[in-house]
This record gives sequence, structure tokens and C-alpha cells, in this order.
Amino acid sequence: MNSLQFVDNEGEKTAEENYKKLTNEEERVIVFKGTEQPFTGLFNDNWRHGTYVCKRCGAKLYRSENKFEAGCGWPSFDDEIPGAVKRSPDPDGIRIEISCANCNAHLGHVFLGEGLTPKSVRHCVNSISMDFVPDEKQTH
Ligand SMILES: [Zn+2]
Repeated sequence: MNSLQFVDNEGEKTAEENYKKLTNEEERVIVFKGTEQPFTGLFNDNWRHGTYVCKRCGAKLYRSENKFEAGCGWPSFDDEIPGAVKRSPDPDGIRIEISCANCNAHLGHVFLGEGLTPKSVRHCVNSISMDFVPDEKQTH
């Protein structure tokens, strides 16, 4: 459960030293707010039970229960783990950018009022911004 010990009692610099080293493509999306090609991401068609965590810092972001098929080509969620996702205005002036509340890694965008699920929220997230931890691996 407590996989983020390093965040609690240490300074930001130490926490950053624990960030995963990113590949060029990961960096393009996570740091420079790029977007992966639709229908190419690792988790677009992943329907296993588990938790989606930040690729860079490991913070828990989304649960599989909130993942739904939006047909847009990116993993879509209608809710986040409370407090895990930060929303901010996208520089394009239209969309709302979402990022990891812990390390500011770019995740994607959130769209409201589309009516695709009862919550009518769609977090459109780049697979490359996340790792997936299946439930069966969290029990030991
Ligand atoms: Zn993070």
C-alpha cells in the first residue's frame, strides 16, 4: 500500500532522484506534454483489474473500475483516485490538462459533459504516462 514512502519525509530533490528514468518517447509525452498516437498505447485495451500508477513517480492515479471504452483510442476513465490528478487550463485555451498531482507528469486531458458514463467525465490518458499494477500482484 505505502509505495510512496520517499515522498513523505524527504525533500523534493530526493524525491526526484527516485523518479523513473524516462525514455525519449516517455519524455516527449510526460515532460513536454506530447500525445501518443491513438490506438497504439499499451493500456487502451487493457481490461484487467488493477491500479494505474504514474510512470514517473509511481503515485496511484486510476482504478480499473473507472476505466471505460470511449472509442477514442486512449485509455479513458470517468473518475480518478481522490487527490491524485491535478487539473489545469491547457495552453490551447479550450481543454483541461491533467497531470500527476505528485510529480506534475503530463497525463492527458479531461473532458466534461459528454454523457458517455453516468459521471459524464472522461479522463483521456496517454498509456505511456502510466504503469499498471494488477490486483493479484498487490496481495503479497
Ligand atoms: Zn507522478
